[in-house]
Amino acid sequence: MKRGVFQWLAAGSVSLAGVLAFALPIPGIAPPAADGAALLAQRPLVIPVAGVRSEQLVDTFEQGRPGHRHEAIDILAPRGTPVHAVDDGKVAKLFTSVPGGLTIYHFDPAGRLAYYYAHLDRYAPGLKEGMPLRRGDVIGYVGTTGNASPDAPHLHFAVFRLGPLKQWWKGDAINPYPALRQAASSVAAK
Ligand SMILES: [Zn+2]
Repeated sequence: MKRGVFQWLAAGSVSLAGVLAFALPIPGIAPPAADGAALLAQRPLVIPVAGVRSEQLVDTFEQGRPGHRHEAIDILAPRGTPVHAVDDGKVAKLFTSVPGGLTIYHFDPAGRLAYYYAHLDRYAPGLKEGMPLRRGDVIGYVGTTGNASPDAPHLHFAVFRLGPLKQWWKGDAINPYPALRQAASSVAAK
């Protein structure tokens, strides 16, 4: 899916303070440096799609998509397959976008990483913004909402290193593939 300008616009109210904070270093707060991959490698993840094993994953992070780099991994599965939270943390945002369809932004416990799940068929019943998550919780179901082909249900899964302002729509993309190759399979149902 396409990220960036769309989500900038979708986010709507980008404050002047936010723009300045993005452009200027903030004393005492480390910039969102290239530590994202190291942070992610320390997280004990589970694979977000039920029944998928790590050796079945394909690294599509660097692949081209119309007008941009993919910067995510696509995990194919039948429509309705449970999607699991890869880590502990909380639901930061439930958002519907034209490219991503029904999406979830999930922050890790320290608020340094955002996990992004897109093209969901539906959310898990009762899922709400701000609610805590435990690794392995069912948060939604695989689908084709947004710009996914109706013939190819899949989870588009991405990870971002959040900046100091922890804005859910903004961050530096990290390739989730190496971490997921080390991840445990999620249980088939929960
Ligand atoms: Zn994708």
